[in-house]
Formats: sequence, C-alpha cells, structure tokens
Amino acid sequence: MSTTLITDIDVLVTGDAEGTVHRDTTLVIADGVVAGIGADCPAPDRVISAGGLSVIPGLVDGHVHPTFGEWTPAQNASGWVRNYLHGGTTTMVSAGELHVPGLPFDELSPELVTGLAITSLRTTGRVRPSGVKAHCGTVLLTPDMTEGHFDRLAEYGAGHAKFIFYDWDRLSSGEPPRYVRWAHERGMTVKMHSGGVSRSGSSRVAGYDLVAAVSPDVVAHISGGPIPMPDDEIRRTIDELPGHVEVCSSMNYRATAVTVDRLTERGELHRLTLGTDTPGGTGVIPRGMLRNVCYLASMCGMDPAVAVAAATGNTARAHQLDVGVLAEGRPADLLVLGPVTGSRAENVLDCFALGDLPGIAAVFVDGEPLVLGRSEQTPPPSRRLTA
Ligand SMILES: [Zn+2]
Repeated sequence: MSTTLITDIDVLVTGDAEGTVHRDTTLVIADGVVAGIGADCPAPDRVISAGGLSVIPGLVDGHVHPTFGEWTPAQNASGWVRNYLHGGTTTMVSAGELHVPGLPFDELSPELVTGLAITSLRTTGRVRPSGVKAHCGTVLLTPDMTEGHFDRLAEYGAGHAKFIFYDWDRLSSGEPPRYVRWAHERGMTVKMHSGGVSRSGSSRVAGYDLVAAVSPDVVAHISGGPIPMPDDEIRRTIDELPGHVEVCSSMNYRATAVTVDRLTERGELHRLTLGTDTPGGTGVIPRGMLRNVCYLASMCGMDPAVAVAAATGNTARAHQLDVGVLAEGRPADLLVLGPVTGSRAENVLDCFALGDLPGIAAVFVDGEPLVLGRSEQTPPPSRRLTA
C-alpha cells in the first residue's frame, strides 16, 4: 500500500453540499483514496507539508465540449485540457462533441450522433488527457433514435445524453420523455440546453415549457449559455422541476444572481452545479471554474464552502460520478491552494469571499501529484508547500 500524509493544512473544504470545513488538519491518502481527515499516519511513504495552505476537492467542470484530445477546433487551440488541470479541474463532463468540423446540426441522424459519441468514447474518452478524468461521448439526442441506439451507447460505456439540436416540433410525439426513460434505464444522465440559441445558431429557444416537458436531470446553463430564459421562467424552473440546475462561465451574470437568490430562498443550493461551457464561443478558460466560485461567493452571497461544493460535490453527484467530495474511501482528487501575494485573504475561503483568485500549489488525481510546486495557470500562492 502506498500512503501520503499531507500536514499543516489551514482549511480543508470537503465539497459536500453542507459546506463542511475542517481547520488546522491533516489528510491521509492510501492507494489513491482518502483514508482519513485529521488522522495520523505512522509511517507514510510520502509527507507533504501544505505550509498553511488550504485543500479543496479537484474541480469538476460539468460542461465542456471536447473534440479530439487536447485540440479544440472551437478556438483552434491545443493543450487546453492540460491548462484546465493547472487551473484546478481534475474531472470534466462532455456536454456533447459538437465542434467536430463540418457536423451538420440541421441534418443529424441517429447513426451519426451514436457513431460520434462512440468515437469520442473510444478515442479521447479512452485515455485521460493530461491525467484529467474526461467523461466523453455525450450523445446529441436527435429524432428517430431507437432503444437499440441507447443499447449501443451503453455497451460502450456512455454515461450522458444531451438535448440541444433536437427538433422540438416533435415534442408531442412523446419521444423526448421516452429518451429520458431509456437513458435512465441504462444509468445515463440527461442534460438539456436551456435559453436562447448557442454559437452554432441552430438550437431552438428553450424556456420553462420546453424544459418542463423533458424534465432533464440537469438544466444546462440556466443563467445563460450565453442567453438565459426570462427571469420568471428561471424561478419557475427552480420551483417546479426537481433536477439540478447548472451555471456556466458562459453565463449572464445578472441571471446567475437571480438563480442563486431563488435557490437560496428555497434552501436548495445543493441543486446548483457548475461548468465552463468551454471550449466554445466563450473561449478556453483554464481558470474558469475558480472564477465561477469567486463570483458566486463574492457577488451572489454564497457561503464560500457551499460555492466550492457547487464546483465539486454537487456537479459530481448530478452526473453520477464518485469524485468531488473529500471523505474516507473517495478518490483523492484535490487541490492545495491559497492566497496570492497582495491578496487580503488568509485562506482559500477568504479568497473566494473577496473574489480574489487563489494560487494553486498542487493538483492531485487519485492521490498522485500531477502538479506540484506551482501551477502554470495561476500566480503562486504566497505560502509554500514542501514535498
Ligand atoms: Zn455547451
């Protein structure tokens, strides 16, 4: 068994929906999973002093658009996954491989979308680009799919399906709820594009009525990606539908405040999930998830530890993933981070409350330090980690 002891942690945020925080603590990792918080480890194979820095779970970006490994045609950029790792993202979930050059959004066929998802599952999804847990192969649901298409997707391990280019004139056929049922029977989650059209220009406006007719597991970018549904429909979606709602870096900032206010009033912030909705028209944003947490905690009145949960445990749970929470037996995917020189913050919670980007000193995935010393994407934290 290989063990790592991380000592001298100022603040550890577990990523659970309650916003649990441990202070002045340690973390024990054994064989890639969390073995204890505040526990001792008699003869660890490796000791890392966090030097008074903080620890949070690795960020879970619930909305990315992968295409071919590290290359994204959306911004003709390479190396984006590695850059996101250095921005703290250890897990990402595809919201559809829709940037494949030449993909005919208006003429998608069941064979094409199924083949595209399987191709992604068997290429980018088969490896971990730069060590990031990339869940690829999210099928773009299209009319006339049969249960056989869902069987094939499940056979290749597809975990997610997405409504975006669906022809909503077909809603009365009963097909969309049937797709949701077929997906659920195979353990897949269903996400649905909401609001106005996306960069592709061909998704139809999806407000409360359309979203309610489908009742997806996750309402994608409820506060805009980039154009949100009207405010009263955001509130109605939160009030009347049971699923998770997602806020993305492609957001309308005002509409995000509307979303968070409603969830707060209802005591339902555990339903809030986060993503970047990138690469795409919003760009490639390695620090996007950290910036989302900063915005929620500094401008939307969220408790910083609960905002961290939105970026980690909530998003993982919504997509049926075992990551995002630091607790015994869970994967040791975590960040060591803290205030950057010049910030008034004392620890990572202060950083988020003030809206100051924290600096990352280490990124662990399954207990292995993939980044150690300093991130290539954030300024260094003012305190130093010693390994
Ligand atoms: Zn998207």
